Amino acid sequence: MRVLVTGAAGFIGSHFCDRLLAEGHQVLALDNFLTGASENIAHLQDHPAFTLLQHNISQPMYLDEKLDAVVHMASPASPNPESPWGYPQLPIQTLKVGALGTLNALGLARAHQARFLLASTSEVYGDPLVHPQTEDYAGNVDPVGPRSMYDEAKRFAEALVMSYHRTHQLDTRIMRIFNTYGPRMRLDDGRVVPNFICQALEGKPLTIHGEGTQTRSFCYIDDLIEGIYRLLLSEGIHQPVNLGNPVEMSVLELAELINRLTGNQAPIQRQASARMATDPERRRPDITRARTLLNWEPRVSLEEGLTRTIADFRARLQAKQEV
Ligand code: NAD
Ligand code: UDP
Repeated sequence: MRVLVTGAAGFIGSHFCDRLLAEGHQVLALDNFLTGASENIAHLQDHPAFTLLQHNISQPMYLDEKLDAVVHMASPASPNPESPWGYPQLPIQTLKVGALGTLNALGLARAHQARFLLASTSEVYGDPLVHPQTEDYAGNVDPVGPRSMYDEAKRFAEALVMSYHRTHQLDTRIMRIFNTYGPRMRLDDGRVVPNFICQALEGKPLTIHGEGTQTRSFCYIDDLIEGIYRLLLSEGIHQPVNLGNPVEMSVLELAELINRLTGNQAPIQRQASARMATDPERRRPDITRARTLLNWEPRVSLEEGLTRTIADFRARLQAKQEV
């Protein structure tokens, strides 16, 4: 297939480009480098089946060459208001890429009669009142809350995708990605795994927002990529599919594990005021649909995935110090 990947220089997008190329597909990698990094795709620049398009997908675009699939991953993704890459700092860009970017990506798919896959998020469930979250749970999102620029952009994006499917019979797919981590996440991304690993490798206290009793379920990137690839190749799955790891743990447990794996001795620091309003209290995917329809489930344990991620972060931190 000839596949357009938006957000290709990002964490998930770059790993997905690797997978597509390994499977023998051609990749048109689109990114405007808002939150991504050219280093993530530098190793692909000379690959004969890889083409980079520097473009803001929130602006219309036309492609003459034939496309078989469009995978729309472009969007800021970190909720941390302190991070320069966090969507609270990029609210208009986040709303635009969810709305106009999705519209433009859908328009391209329609023009080429290509299959379409949207990267949506567990954030469409907001601070969920149903646990674990199944795809038919409609969510608990505050439309004017501090995360609304992201949550509502993704909810609107899902509505757009379903409308293109129902109105134009476009061959669409929607994945709701839950917390994913792994190599290539920005060191200063601001999400919990990169923050804790950097702090631990620098021998600093891990900063927990609130008491650390809030829970998340962390999926290793290789497992997620396998699920995305299966969904892209699937036929007839137009309803959203949760992709994530159902093993749930508290943020405090995550901090303790990262300290153990890195040998960090600094005490954990609780920061009551750092907890954002509407920071979800619990989050865990119900992956029955992905198990049944895609025969997919995560295989990499948290300890194994964190060990690989810590090695990548250690190498990049060292390289940064040497510069
Ligand atoms: P990322 O920030 O590493 O990657 C996003 C990429 O999109 C970046 O390279 C950025 O430059 C690009 N981008 C942003 N706006 C753009 C625009 N207007 N035009 C072109 N490119 C643009 O984030 P990520 O973690 O790789 O997330 C990728 C996708 O997966 C996002 O849509 C995100 O919402 C979704 N997602 C990620 C997670 C996760 O845990 N990582 C969870 C749920 C959903
Ligand atoms: N968090 C934390 N310390 C940090 C960063 C995040 O305690 O340095 C918490 C955050 O408040 C949230 C959880 O970790 O409860 C996961 O946050 P993340 O930013 O990774 O993404 P989210 O799951 O909230 O979208």
